[in-house]
Amino acid sequence: MNTIIINGTDDEAFSDAAKALREGMLVAFPTETVYGLGADALNPEAVNKIYEAKGRPSDNPLIVHIAEVSKLNELVAEIPEAATLLIEAFWPGPLTMVFKKSNLVPDIITAGLDTVAVRMPDSLIAQKLIREAGVPIAAPSANISGRPSPTTSKHVIEDLKGRIEYIIDGGSCQVGVESTVLDVTTDIPIILRPGGITLEMLEKVLGIVYTDPALEIKGNIKPRSPGMKYRHYSPKAEMFLISGVPGLVVKKINKLAKESSERGLRVGVLSSFENAHKYKAEVIVNAGSVKHADNIAAQLYDSLRTFDEKKVDIIYSEIFEEKGIGRAIMNRLRKASSGKIIEAKEEN
Ligand code: AMP
Ligand code: MG
Repeated sequence: MNTIIINGTDDEAFSDAAKALREGMLVAFPTETVYGLGADALNPEAVNKIYEAKGRPSDNPLIVHIAEVSKLNELVAEIPEAATLLIEAFWPGPLTMVFKKSNLVPDIITAGLDTVAVRMPDSLIAQKLIREAGVPIAAPSANISGRPSPTTSKHVIEDLKGRIEYIIDGGSCQVGVESTVLDVTTDIPIILRPGGITLEMLEKVLGIVYTDPALEIKGNIKPRSPGMKYRHYSPKAEMFLISGVPGLVVKKINKLAKESSERGLRVGVLSSFENAHKYKAEVIVNAGSVKHADNIAAQLYDSLRTFDEKKVDIIYSEIFEEKGIGRAIMNRLRKASSGKIIEAKEEN
């Protein structure tokens, strides 16, 4: 298949892409979180192409994107009070809410669940595409399933060129990690995935918010059994997170890097800006300053993809503070490493 790559500011080409979407084709487009792979959410055949192009397991439901709050009524059975408050506070923006679905929503979107996830993106290109296509757009991240999500059109091209009809280039995504997914069907909403809208921001509006216990598993001491969690957001090389007090972490990573190098492996280190100069390894990727976790999030997937480009065999990563956007960063790093965490201890 020939993939047409267009610039988001080229109005004529943009209209062609919107039309293609309306006619059941796939269009990748930028949002403020990551690039999405869009199809007409009300056309099951079109939606099926998303699963095929990505190689996405069919039991993983999709998020439906809208550009007007009024469209939400058509997609959901009810809008709980909490959701109304959150729409007011955070839409358009990186917050996805899970509602009881209406009959209009095809089963292929929800993987057979009776709920549907909906978001209104803040990106002007995304909003324009939804409006011009005139349909709600189902869109997961525009990557091959399991790989780091795409935050530039270059990432989308790497993964999906030849597999989809259009890619709209709109530069780099501002937030860089996916939306927060919040289940609002329960009395107290539950975070199913941490993302661009943080727990702290949600608590300010709602008072109490729960977090899905599955996200709390930190596996902080023993390396976890890789089979226990599915791999996601992952670079090709095996990845380990190193936890512990900062000085010990640097020492431990250098020790592991040395041992791996001696075994003939090409080693990558994911480092904070503050520590980057302290490592000895073939490839050191500076994830950004711990003083600006937002920037670390914005570059996270590009950082992970750099390891693929540089063809490393094994990656050792620092861990980052789990507050604010840091919760989303650590959630993605835990998945990328299949939960393999090594604790740096004082050696005796
Ligand atoms: P992606 O768009 O690939 O980043 O993933 C969308 C996320 O939303 C996945 O974690 C899905 O499991 C989640 N999701 C989508 N629809 C639902 C739903 N109805 N209930 C719970 N989670 C959902
Ligand atoms: Mg994804």
